[in-house]
Amino acid sequence: MNKYKDIVYLDHNATTYLAPEVIEKIKTLLEPNFANPSSLYGISLRAKEELEDARAEMKKLLGISSGQLIFTGGGSESDNLAIKGVAYANQRKGKHIITSAIEHHAVLHTCENLQKQGFEITYIPVDDQGVVKLDELKKTIRKDTVLISIMYANNETGVIQPMAEIVKIAKEQGVLVHTDAVQVIGKLPINIDELGVDLLSLSAHKFYGLKGVGALYVKKRVLLDPIINGGEQENGKRAGTENVVGILAMAEALKVSLKNAKDEGLREKKLRDKLENGLLSSIPESFINGKGADRLSNTCNIIIKYIEGESMLLHLDANNICASSGSACTSGSLDPSHVLLAMGVPHEFAHGSLRFSFGKLNTEEDVNKVLEVLPKIIKTLRAMSPLWDESKKTN
Ligand SMILES: *Cc1c(COP(=O)(O)O)cnc(C)c1O
Repeated sequence: MNKYKDIVYLDHNATTYLAPEVIEKIKTLLEPNFANPSSLYGISLRAKEELEDARAEMKKLLGISSGQLIFTGGGSESDNLAIKGVAYANQRKGKHIITSAIEHHAVLHTCENLQKQGFEITYIPVDDQGVVKLDELKKTIRKDTVLISIMYANNETGVIQPMAEIVKIAKEQGVLVHTDAVQVIGKLPINIDELGVDLLSLSAHKFYGLKGVGALYVKKRVLLDPIINGGEQENGKRAGTENVVGILAMAEALKVSLKNAKDEGLREKKLRDKLENGLLSSIPESFINGKGADRLSNTCNIIIKYIEGESMLLHLDANNICASSGSACTSGSLDPSHVLLAMGVPHEFAHGSLRFSFGKLNTEEDVNKVLEVLPKIIKTLRAMSPLWDESKKTN
């Protein structure tokens, strides 16, 4: 990590670097493991064996006693496979899908795609803290509802959804539940059997593994059509020669992340809380999104009124601080975050959002640096902001 020493990286919800243990693991894999796991000679059988060992280890770490863990090309593919796979395979029961207004685009755009194919989608609203409204969910379930897809924790705000209650409501009506748990896996201890969901998406690069590899858990007896057709890999649910190195590295990353997830979470929470308290007390007209809800302990989403998130980011970058505004996928577009809008944050304030997300290598020094730099940036930007002047006049 030496080459990042002078950078304060606070964007772990966008992606993480590789854990040192994962780098070591990958080094041991690069040369010997070139064989195709589907071939029929010794080195292939060994690759296949290692692949299945990685699957078994991940299942154990995730609390999966039965059902499948399908390896995919990442979180977006897992979300696509879960939603399209269930939708296509269960059309005889119905074509209605329920999701929420705050999902990642991997879920929202998949649903929009299905809508064009004749499926009907209902978006459950959230309250002002970003929590899905359970009474609305109950009312929305119909006879032809085949799937409820609601994320476990939001990537922008860190707000955690009441999954146990969502599962309970769904089970009463016999509806399948998928959750995008990409932001939760590696951060919180998890037992998927106990959680009771039918499908769950995860992605290695959000827990110190490689980009471009992930997995989808599918409970026993859930009907699922493949969306990538070809060979019979992954029980015929996902064709394509497996990313052996990426998958073995993912199993290692999961092991390393979960080993001290609880303590690391508490450590990051201290840093996050210090950052939030420091920013709120030094920057007038600012507030934290989702502060009143159960949140991931690494995530801070702050609104700083009357300035643009993008201009704050540029100034932070000039000071070697990496953060994000809205989500990484929407930055570059000028639309404010759909997550914040769904929480009732006014349009003009949603533009002024910043997300800081902590990880393993962050220290108190990093927090101090942001607390030293950001209030000054805000002062400079507000001094040039007509909106800020305007607000002073009306107050
Ligand atoms: C990052 C992320 C994804 C996408 O995962 P990729 O592996 O980058 O495709 C999906 N959902 C959430 C909540 C995420 O944070």
